[in-house]
Amino acid sequence: MIHFVGAGPGAPDLITVRGQKFLEEADVIIYAGSLVNPELLQAAGEGCRIYNSAYMTLEEVLRVMENSEKEGLTTVRLHTGDPSIYGAVREQMEELEKRNIAYDVTPGVSSFCGAAAALGMEYTLPGISQSVILTRMEGRTKVPEKESIESFAAHQATMVLFLSSSMIGELAEKLVEGGYAPQTPAAIVYKATWPEEKAFICTIDTLEKTAADNGIDRTALIIVGEAVRYNGAQPTAESGDGRSPQSRVMRSCLYDADFETGYRSAKSKE
Ligand code: SAH
Repeated sequence: MIHFVGAGPGAPDLITVRGQKFLEEADVIIYAGSLVNPELLQAAGEGCRIYNSAYMTLEEVLRVMENSEKEGLTTVRLHTGDPSIYGAVREQMEELEKRNIAYDVTPGVSSFCGAAAALGMEYTLPGISQSVILTRMEGRTKVPEKESIESFAAHQATMVLFLSSSMIGELAEKLVEGGYAPQTPAAIVYKATWPEEKAFICTIDTLEKTAADNGIDRTALIIVGEAVRYNGAQPTAESGDGRSPQSRVMRSCLYDADFETGYRSAKSKE
């Protein structure tokens, strides 16, 4: 049996209870060494064979899985964040299906959730944005043309960009070309939930400078959209409070005293 497990965004105690148990019981662990926190491997039992997939090809990973299966061993394939997001998991699953090797998937906390936590923000604010676009700049992996940054920018929804911090100047240009105002609030979160986590609030037109000034070109997420304005980051001397009385959030219907739900009748009716 192969268990695909989401390792979470970095902090070792952000793996799920189920994921942790699979790690403890594994005979073989193949972990994505470029981003998975190696501290998680301390959960492995004595004699567990550990492989770092950063040094392996897909075929090499599959060979380890196949051999492990032949010996009747249990394998954990440990992916960063949640395996479903840029995890290159489907190609592994397909090969396992061909070989009749059973697998299951344990979700993880994606880094985009870790980034919201670092910023003290809510991506889906009433009256601001009710959608989150998770996307990336094109790199060696092509992005379908119909999913261009410009086309998504036209919605001015909350957008979270993975795998794009080395192309941040070009990204900012595309965001503005697509429809966001250059002054739209933006944030860069580096290594969310790791001890070295850093979060910066800026605007689209200062994204490139903010990244350059702070030496950030990898392991970061870029978040853009009006929702970023409502963050819990400590105000700095330069930014001031940044939150005028008009920029307090609109409250949700869900907890409004006059709103009825299956759990609660409207207070005014009582
Ligand atoms: N499956 C992962 C994403 C893998 S793609 C997830 O769910 O989070 C790798 C990209 O994710 C990195 O280039 C970076 O953009 C982002 N990333 C992963 N971990 C991160 C972290 N702790 N902080 C900020 N960005 C992170």
